[in-house]
Amino acid sequence: MPEIHVLDQSTINQIAAGEVIERPASVVKELLENAIDAKASAVTVEIRDGGISFIRVTDNGCGIPKEQIPTAFLRHSTSKIQSVEDLFTIGSLGFRGEALSSIAAVAQVEIVTKTQGSMSASRYEIAGGEGREVQEVGAPDGTTFLVRNLFYNTPVRRKFLKTPATEGAHIVDLVEKIALSHPEISIRLIQNHQNKLHTSGNHNLKDIIYTIYGREITSNLLEIESSRDVISIKGFAGKPVIARSNRNFENYFINGRYIKSNIIGKAIEEAYRPFMMQHKYPFTLLHISIEPELLDVNVHPTKMELRFQDGEMIFRAVRDAISDALMHRELIPEVILEE
Ligand code: ADP
Ligand code: MG
Repeated sequence: MPEIHVLDQSTINQIAAGEVIERPASVVKELLENAIDAKASAVTVEIRDGGISFIRVTDNGCGIPKEQIPTAFLRHSTSKIQSVEDLFTIGSLGFRGEALSSIAAVAQVEIVTKTQGSMSASRYEIAGGEGREVQEVGAPDGTTFLVRNLFYNTPVRRKFLKTPATEGAHIVDLVEKIALSHPEISIRLIQNHQNKLHTSGNHNLKDIIYTIYGREITSNLLEIESSRDVISIKGFAGKPVIARSNRNFENYFINGRYIKSNIIGKAIEEAYRPFMMQHKYPFTLLHISIEPELLDVNVHPTKMELRFQDGEMIFRAVRDAISDALMHRELIPEVILEE
């Protein structure tokens, strides 16, 4: 047996990066969430080559002070929590302080960032975990991340990537979900120099649904607005007539977080059961708000799963909100007249 030893920092970072950064869409998710946490009102995501060679995310948020930039790229460095208790009152999407260090461990990263109070912007480059000097440059308030050549230094992981078309499709999906989860932010996606998505940030969820899903879905929605105990639910339930053959249209967000949850999925399907044929799944778009102390968001590094203190209560709230909408409304489809 070889001698037992502690791994060097760059190996540790590369291993840790594997948990957070699986593919280009993971990079886009982390950078978009950081922009949202930075209180940006507009974010532009630009990708080329399915995001494998080029991802640029520009926000007009709070920026990072010059002297804190290298620290932001260290593991477990965050401005969002101080102690583990903060996790139960958390309002931000991030808190683990792992994204920037993970991305910089497996890609070539450049950041230009400016806080409102500072005279100039700063530019910093870091690749494979090795940072350069911070430079002063001119730029508007906010932050731009440029991430190039994902997995350039981990050829094995690079081989696991799918084609640029497939990786690009994952990014489009993800940006659409995030746009739906934050109708107050104007989100733009440019893929290979072409505009793929542009939301206005005018708070109107239906406008975004229209942009992403089109007219048939938008004209067959029932509005949901329910508030019970500590849970409030707002959004739309699709009429059964626009049912789909897979679950991709069951959208739900908890406290602005895009997640997957068996409990919520089951609650949705239970409410639709009387109206649905087998193997058909509804369109839903639910914004669920709940007291943060009733959630555990720290279940998985990608934060795609969370744990409820009272799963049964969530289940009932979601099921009943949808059932009410389905029982009390006209379920006959809107006839769409061709113009
Ligand atoms: P986390 O989001 O979990 O705090 P990250 O590694 O994603 O960890 O980011 C580290 C820190 O860098 C954040 O806590 C934040 O202070 C800062 N940061 C990252 N992205 C941005 C951004 N777009 N605008 C302002 N600050 C940012
Ligand atoms: Mg983050």
